Amino acid sequence: MDLILRHANLPDGRRDIDIGIRDGRIVAVETALAATAAEEIDASGRLVSPPFVDAHFHLDSALSLGLPRLNRSGTLLEGIALWGELKPDLTREAIARRALDYCDMAVAQGLLAIRSHVDICDDRLLAVDALLEVRRQVAPYLDLQLVAFPQDGLLRSATAQDNLARALDRGVDVVGGIPHFERTMADGAESVRILCELAAARGLLVDMHCDESDDPHSRHIETLAAQSQRLGLHGRVAGSHLTSMHSMDNYYVSKLLPLIAESGVAAIANPLINITLQGRHDTYPKRRGMTRVPELLAAGVDVAFGHDCVMDPWYSFGSADMLEVAHMGIHVAQMTSQEAIRQAFDAVTTNAARILHLDGYGLAVGCRANLVVLQAADPFEAIRLKATRLYVLRGGRVIARSPARLSELDLPGRPARVTLQSGHGA
Ligand SMILES: [Zn+2]
Repeated sequence: MDLILRHANLPDGRRDIDIGIRDGRIVAVETALAATAAEEIDASGRLVSPPFVDAHFHLDSALSLGLPRLNRSGTLLEGIALWGELKPDLTREAIARRALDYCDMAVAQGLLAIRSHVDICDDRLLAVDALLEVRRQVAPYLDLQLVAFPQDGLLRSATAQDNLARALDRGVDVVGGIPHFERTMADGAESVRILCELAAARGLLVDMHCDESDDPHSRHIETLAAQSQRLGLHGRVAGSHLTSMHSMDNYYVSKLLPLIAESGVAAIANPLINITLQGRHDTYPKRRGMTRVPELLAAGVDVAFGHDCVMDPWYSFGSADMLEVAHMGIHVAQMTSQEAIRQAFDAVTTNAARILHLDGYGLAVGCRANLVVLQAADPFEAIRLKATRLYVLRGGRVIARSPARLSELDLPGRPARVTLQSGHGA
């Protein structure tokens, strides 16, 4: 074998597992693997996970904080206006440079797959061309999936439909949308129909910014689910944000949740952004704005968490750390049960990978040997500590390393670890 990771804890609770790797693939996952390898890494009871996956991001605006000015109010609408001010000054080189910088940050954090929306409302399609080139350059170490995103509205912007088709022709992977930003509810529904039909005709996935609003009457998710059902797009469509669901009438939601589940539409919440941008018209009590994550999960809907923004017109913070995203998701949705904490870890790993249709993702024999060794014993501790990524592996090769954090060393006398699996207590 090329590499063996010894004494790993796995996210599903298995402990002291050896992982054998050959030709970039996982070839063994078992206790006390009787084999030798050119290189061995002793995980010594640390968590080994498949890599983090960000199901919702904006790489074209990331790291642009302060260009051309800061967002004074910190609101969504000033952010959109600010992005409009920045667009004329953007160059392909500047977008690509910032995107590559962000991909470096991501790899260091064990974040090896990103679905990024790319604004297609610039007739020059500068960001599209820049990110297609970035996708090609980072392919050896990061899976970048691009969504054609009509930021100014598919029907509201005169050239958006044409630009979106051109972006897909150039190789953008996924059909995006923003129905709640169209001029009317009817236009929003019409945009969902047009975009779903386009995706069905081209055999593409769909991921729309959907109902990113506190308006309980913003119900485009209902149309998205119905169109997915009508066109047979089961498992190929995601609704991002869905924040209006937070404010909807409970009786209506009791009808909506089974419809979403039946249509196979996935939900992507963005806890860091939703908690800061929603509820802005409220005094007190102030709504949280994040969609109903535990209820969606209970209804059988696939739910992922996205980072959405890092240092851009909408959000000044962030560090490509999906554990920070999961940590915030847990707090906002009060997902503090043992099961819910595990679900939050899945929302930034396996669930997100499934929504992106990532090939060969996971810890089973035959999967790509893309792995992260964390300075934590289990998913709970990883989220609590936003744990250091001791090793990041891509195709069985170490592509990033970080030194262990001194304050979290496994000192003698350290209190017993909390574990998420009964019967496996340390
Ligand atoms: Zn977004």
